[in-house]
Amino acid sequence: MKEFIPEKAFIDSASLEYETGKRVLNFLEKYNVPISFTNRVKIEGDTPIEKYANSKRTIFLTLSKEKKLRPCSPSADFQFSLTRSCPGLCEYCYLQTTQGERPYIRIFANIEDIFHVIQKHIDDNDEKKTTFECSSITDPIPFEAMTGSLKAAIEFFGKNKNGRLRFVTKYHMIDNLLDIPHNGHTTFRFSINTEKVIRDFEHNTSSMEERIRAAGKVCDAGYPLGFIVAPIMRYPGWKTEYEEMMYLLSRYVSEKDRVISFELIQHRYTETAKKLIYSRFPKTKLEMNDEKRKLKWGPYGKFKYVYKKEESEEIKQFMTLLVEKYFQNGKVEYFT
Ligand code: SF4
Repeated sequence: MKEFIPEKAFIDSASLEYETGKRVLNFLEKYNVPISFTNRVKIEGDTPIEKYANSKRTIFLTLSKEKKLRPCSPSADFQFSLTRSCPGLCEYCYLQTTQGERPYIRIFANIEDIFHVIQKHIDDNDEKKTTFECSSITDPIPFEAMTGSLKAAIEFFGKNKNGRLRFVTKYHMIDNLLDIPHNGHTTFRFSINTEKVIRDFEHNTSSMEERIRAAGKVCDAGYPLGFIVAPIMRYPGWKTEYEEMMYLLSRYVSEKDRVISFELIQHRYTETAKKLIYSRFPKTKLEMNDEKRKLKWGPYGKFKYVYKKEESEEIKQFMTLLVEKYFQNGKVEYFT
């Protein structure tokens, strides 16, 4: 994955009153991206596959109207967004079922307004630490060269007494975030997986090695750091490949008395997601055979298919052992 440059852009003119809006416009002009100045986003395509793929290459520069932030339990108190959707084409992505037929990328220009809303939520929380997640409906990294918004957010939280930020990414383009005053108030998390899982299912994202090298730089820059290993899949040779991944990680990430957190998530799917995945990726190699799975009631009111009990237990034990073997200060936050 190189720098993300959209193929088409739609711009709400009101967004050009903001510095971020002007910066995005400069970027688009520099790369000769075709622009339409309208609020009506049109996505070409006759089939679900075409609509989906074209959406992921299209941006809409607009304004965030969010005044009241949604809770984000259990990972943070609230969630906010600088962008929505992403250029990734991960076959299993849970956002597939929540962002409709045309998940085009929204970029919010009014970051000052977003920070104002965040500050209000912090002030309303009586001097307690308040945590915010900014990657619930997006991956914030691919847009950094275009917007600089995440850098601004990290600096905002760096100065903030009680606000804390966290996010997760599958991308490696993090160099503009290394030398900034984060003050340890932002937790950087990388979503990692074996090279095979990334190659087969996480199209248009950074490779395993790119993510791991980026994590090493983030660690050296003093950020609190964690990893989401997800979705963990069983396939011939899975144990060897997950061990190779952990070994590589331990080579690049030096702990220096710091806790490195690990969130372990086994592969799962819902009936709705399965249908959508087959319509968008008809040749998918994702293993979604209901008979080989166990039904589990999910927190969002839907049944999901996870690995059977013995298999799931084996994943948990094996991955926990790897964390213990390669990271003296590794902490498994949870396995699900
Ligand atoms: S990068 Fe993250 S948000 Fe984007 S498609 Fe992949 S899993 Fe979904």
